[in-house]
This record gives sequence, C-alpha cells and structure tokens, in this order.
Amino acid sequence: MSAIKQEAARRRTFAIISHPDAGKTTLTEKLLLFGGAIQMAGSVKGRKAARHATSDWMALEKERGISVTSSVMQFPYGEHIVNLLDTPGHADFGEDTYRVLTAVDSALMVIDVAKGVEERTIKLMEVCRLRDTPIMSFINKLDREGKNPIELLDEIESVLKIQCAPVTWPIGMGKRLRGVVHLLSGEVHLYEAGKNHTRQDSTIYPSINDPRVEAAIGADMLAELRDELELVEGASHPFDQDAYLRGEQAPVFFGSAVNNFGVQPLLDFFVQHAPQPQPRETTSREVEPTEDKLTGFVFKIQANMDPQHRDRVAFMRICSGKFSAGMKAFQPRTGKDLKLANALTFMASDREIAEHAYPGDVIGIHNHGTISIGDTFTEGENIAFTGIPNFAPELFRRARLRDPLKLKQLQKGLAQLSEEGATQFFRPLMSNDLILGAVGVLQFDVVAYRLKDEYGVDASFEQVQVATARWIKCDDAKKLEDFREKNAANLALDAAGQLVYLAPTRVNLQLAQERAPGVEFLATREHA
Ligand code: GDP
Repeated sequence: MSAIKQEAARRRTFAIISHPDAGKTTLTEKLLLFGGAIQMAGSVKGRKAARHATSDWMALEKERGISVTSSVMQFPYGEHIVNLLDTPGHADFGEDTYRVLTAVDSALMVIDVAKGVEERTIKLMEVCRLRDTPIMSFINKLDREGKNPIELLDEIESVLKIQCAPVTWPIGMGKRLRGVVHLLSGEVHLYEAGKNHTRQDSTIYPSINDPRVEAAIGADMLAELRDELELVEGASHPFDQDAYLRGEQAPVFFGSAVNNFGVQPLLDFFVQHAPQPQPRETTSREVEPTEDKLTGFVFKIQANMDPQHRDRVAFMRICSGKFSAGMKAFQPRTGKDLKLANALTFMASDREIAEHAYPGDVIGIHNHGTISIGDTFTEGENIAFTGIPNFAPELFRRARLRDPLKLKQLQKGLAQLSEEGATQFFRPLMSNDLILGAVGVLQFDVVAYRLKDEYGVDASFEQVQVATARWIKCDDAKKLEDFREKNAANLALDAAGQLVYLAPTRVNLQLAQERAPGVEFLATREHA
C-alpha cells in the first residue's frame, strides 16, 4: 500500500455540531484527553468562561492561545489520526459553520438528554443532509434527569428524519445513573462519579450476566435493565454501516461529557466506523484521496490568530496527495504558483510547523491577501473544488471613525477581516465611505470590537442606504466602461478590487438591470 493510501486510511476528519449548551466544548475537551492532550483540558474550559459575552469571538480574545488550537485540533488515537474541526457557536456564524462542514467527512451531533432536539441542531442537520454527511449522536448529561431514552430516539427520528441505531444504552439516569451497556459487545461500563479526569473512564465488565454487575447495580435495577434491553432490541434498528455512511442512520451513544462517561465507547466506535477521507467533486472530475498529487481547498480564513504572529491564516483541507513543507502549489483562480512555506499543523497542544500532511488533514497557510475562501490548490492541474459557498451580504453599514487620522488603519482592518468571509468590504467609486456588508447583525459588533482590539481603531457602524449588492460581470469592455460611467454613483470595489453594484433599493436594482442588457449582476462573488 502506498504511504498516501495508508495515511488517508487512518485519518478521521469531523466536526461536532450541537445547539449551544448541549456540551460541545466539554465533549471536545474530553476527546482531547483521550488523544493525550491533557494540558488542553483546562484551556478549552477557559474559553467557556467568557462564553456568554456577545460572541464567541470576544471570549476567544480573552483566551488568545485557544483560538489557534480550537479551530482545528489534531490528535492521535490508537492507530488513527483524528482531525476535529470547530464550528462557531453563534447563529450569525451560520455561513462559517456551513463552510467548515464542507471540509469534514462526518459529524458528531451532541444532544442534551433533557432538552432533546433543539432548533440549531435542526438547522445544522439540514446542512449535513445537503452532502449526506454521516452522523453519530451523543446524548449528553445523563447524570441529570432527562427524557426517556426510547422517547428521545423517537424524537430524533421524527424531527431530524434520521434512523437511530443505539450502540450504547444507559443504565438509569440522573441520581440513578449506574452505567451504560454496549449493545454490540455486550460490555457493561460502570459509572463512578468523580473518576472524570483519568483516561480510563470506567470499570468495564464483559456482560450483564457477570455477577459483579448485579453486585454493582443491584438485582432490581438489573431486572429492569433486562426488560428495557429486550424492548430496545425489538423497537430499534441494528447498526448498519452502509446506512450510516449514506447519512441515513445515526449510531447513538449515551453518556455524560462533564464526567467523561460514555465518551470512550463513542471514540472507539468512531475511529473504527467513521469514514476516512472521501473523494471530492471538482468542476471537471472527482478527486480521489489516494491520488499522488496534492489537492486541497480553503474553507476558512482567520486574521490575527495569534498576537505574537500578527498573521492571517488560510485553512486548507487536503483532499489528495501529500503535502511537504516548502512545496509549491498552483492556485488555479490566479493562475500562479504559491510557495507553501511554514504551513501550520494543528496538533492539539499547540500549532506547529508541518513537515508533511495527508488527505483529511488541515494545514494553515500564511495569507498575505492572495488567498480567498473557496480557493483550490493543486500541483498544476486546472480544477476547482465545488460546493464552498460565499454568501451575499444582506445588511450594510457605513464605518464611522472617531479619529480621522486612523483612516489607513481602518481600511486595512476592514480589508483583512473581510478576508475571513463573514463580512464583505466595499469602497464606493464616488465617495470616501467604507461600507461593510454582513449576513448577520452581530458581525458589526464583532468587527467593531476586533478593529479596536487588533488594529487600535475606534469605529462604529451606522445605517446606510444599501439594500443589496451585485457583482458586475461583462465581457464587452466598451459596454462595461459605458455602464461604469452611467452608474458610478452606485458602484463600489470589493476587497479584491472587483466591481460591485450597491443598490439603494430593490426597485433601483431592477431598473439598473433592465437598462444594462449584456451586463451580468451576480448575487455572489465567483471563485472559479
Ligand atoms: P456548548 O455550548 O455546547 O459548548 O456546551 P458546554 O460544553 O459549554 O456545556 C454547557 C454547560 O453544560 C456547562 O455548564 C457544562 O459544564 C455543562 N455540561 C456539559 N456536559 C455535562 C454533563 O454531562 N452533565 C452535566 N450535568 N452538565 C454538563
């Protein structure tokens, strides 16, 4: 077997999705413990402390180092290499989450046993369904009273429209929680509160018939459990690997993340059954992960990840081949080669310089403004990975500077932050305004906060008469020039220098379109 094939086969790249507060952060922390990144446990928690500030970003600001490792966390587990991609928590970051989910091969859905299926879980599930992403589910907080497990599985099946195949089953709940039974191996994992910081999360007995199980949980509870297991067996679906890989069936686990209970059976099953890096569609062909030549795409850009490095990093998911430090890659969008010097990997403990990386891995490339979200990199082939969207902004604000001498800094800050993709930045042709477009209103607060914190610029955002933006495309140079002259008052350049029509009203947009046949008004900036 080739090295690439071998390395791809042992990789598992996934994201955790959940409604806020279901336990994503806590579970991440425990998974990292199993991966040997003990020192991370406290730090992920630290991020949590400031969580309920206006946004995750501000919390991240307080725990600077964490933003690096929490974006992508790589850890070894047994023979496997696990890449865990963080999805942003707040609803306004929906596009970011969407893009992260294009870069994974599977997802883990965390559900609060008391709350069941919540609104954000439903939305995220819809996104996963677009690509038939395989999903496992962890029902969390079993140390508290919650819904009846059988009813909860019914709820998941009917609300999320996915079949459930329980792999572990709880023995009791809340104060009566005694453990879980592994339905495939028959093993009983005992729950012992307080044993949560060690790697081995529980005492394991080979079956419910082991006399030590009765001794541990009592005869009554054992009898109750036997009845329930019979019921579960009759009422639920057995695990079916193919149905899982097609995204039609979710293996389900029960546990308590904060007590590190039920996490190990989940992780063991995950590395064994979750898909390895999958083939990916491009504009012209499907790329197999085992191909010799490097390909990948950028799904996220983050500015100023680390105050010591004041840099911007583009996150590239490797789709095929092998990355080696210092190699050159071809960027089909610009037609240029780019040297991938000092690319970063994301071992859970700290970011490190990558020597090699393989399909499924994510590397961080230093970006000096030449890389955009959605960009493909290859070893010369002119292809573009498809399905990485760039959303059109729906809200617009004009930046107002408190200190006019900081204009240069403001421009730079807006341009760099807009590279991350959550906001877009426009400079009208006829005025000195700086206009920011976003999909959610929270983005303006985040940008104002970061401008101050990262660029030392005190700015606010005020209403501006812009209803929508359209990217202008016209192959006829004469016609384009003509259009530009007539419509200069409503035209602007985006951060990449592309011409954009900022329509004050929808009616205005319609009229402008009618008056300019042969000029295309595109709702999103195209990448390829
Ligand atoms: P996130 O918003 O999904 O990342 O959720 P967190 O991991 O931050 O957890 C939200 C809250 O639930 C925190 O107060 C956690 O301590 C708590 N929590 C997480 N897992 C458990 C659990 O298994 N049992 C209990 N009782 N609380 C938990």
